[in-house]
Amino acid sequence: MKVPFVSFLPMEKELDKELRSAFERVFSRSWYIEGAEDQEFEKAFAEFCSVRFCVGVGNGLDALMLALKALDIGKGDEVIVPSNTYIATALAVTYVGALPVFVEPDIKTFNIDPSKIENAITAKTRAIMPVHLYGQPCDMDPIIKIAKEHGLYVVEDCAQAHGAKYKGRVIGSFGDAAGFSFYPGKNLGALGDAGATVTNNEDLANVIRALGNYGSDYKYHHIYLGNNSRLDEMQAAFLSAKLPHLAKMNEERRKIALKYLEGINNKQIVLPFVPDYAEPVWHIFGIRCDRRAELEKYLNDNGVGTNKHYPIPIHLQECYKDLGYVEGDFPIAEVISKTELSLPMYYGMTEHEIDHVINTVNSFK
Ligand SMILES: *Cc1c(COP(=O)(O)O)cnc(C)c1O
Repeated sequence: MKVPFVSFLPMEKELDKELRSAFERVFSRSWYIEGAEDQEFEKAFAEFCSVRFCVGVGNGLDALMLALKALDIGKGDEVIVPSNTYIATALAVTYVGALPVFVEPDIKTFNIDPSKIENAITAKTRAIMPVHLYGQPCDMDPIIKIAKEHGLYVVEDCAQAHGAKYKGRVIGSFGDAAGFSFYPGKNLGALGDAGATVTNNEDLANVIRALGNYGSDYKYHHIYLGNNSRLDEMQAAFLSAKLPHLAKMNEERRKIALKYLEGINNKQIVLPFVPDYAEPVWHIFGIRCDRRAELEKYLNDNGVGTNKHYPIPIHLQECYKDLGYVEGDFPIAEVISKTELSLPMYYGMTEHEIDHVINTVNSFK
């Protein structure tokens, strides 16, 4: 039996008609950038996130970068990011000209440890970027409290957590702005690259929209040095077709996660921890194992696809060597990079497949 790490097939099969009719609708209208589809999806997604404004952009990296740019964060500024995240979080900071300052995660939740944030704050700090990694919400109350006390912005990286809840409230509405990715593999994925920034601040939303449209407020009038980063009509139409199914699809991920949490019983495996405040959406089901390479090989040899998130922490990446970090600077991120292994998790996994994953993990000696 083979269980892939991820498969879009069950979702594509179920939504085949809706996705094809979304394509037909846009194609027959022959209007591809900035139009009715974009507006409609933005409205629906803002509602889903319980915020007032949503601005569709080209991808998740831009969603974060444009939010920072709109908050006037740039050269000479510092932004706090977790040491354990996808590189896009740090790149968004780098691309506006600011310095990413890393803060270690809590080894149990994988997310930024709020008790370590204050130590990283300097006179140059302008913002904190909590990342709801693997679909697990960050502990937002202490983060918001620290931000308020120090006059900092909060920009949430929600790229892996569409619909996750913190103390019953959906993430994306806690900070000044939040960036989402609709990369195909995300919980809500387009059929290509896409992203969105959400906010309750109308002025900020307008600036973000202008920044993503060549810095233009109306045609051929440019107030900022902008980017080209817009949500195209085709992707917006696909996203509108998929959004009504997101809650159900997240719910299914929860059921799979629950089966893993209840069924996996192997002393060598550390299972993910879910704090009381969290309703995760399980973008990734990450376990930890000191003998990861052997476990990975064992699972793969027995038909269980796996992945690692992320094998090299950002501070040790080649592209960031100028920051001058060395091995040992962020030991928790480093331990996660060496021990984390992600199990198959996708909408449409069968009972049989879930059981095969559980039994294989349990039989690893
Ligand atoms: C995917 C991802 C991004 C970037 O999204 P793209 O759409 O690929 O640009 C940013 N942050 C995190 C945590 C991500 O997982």
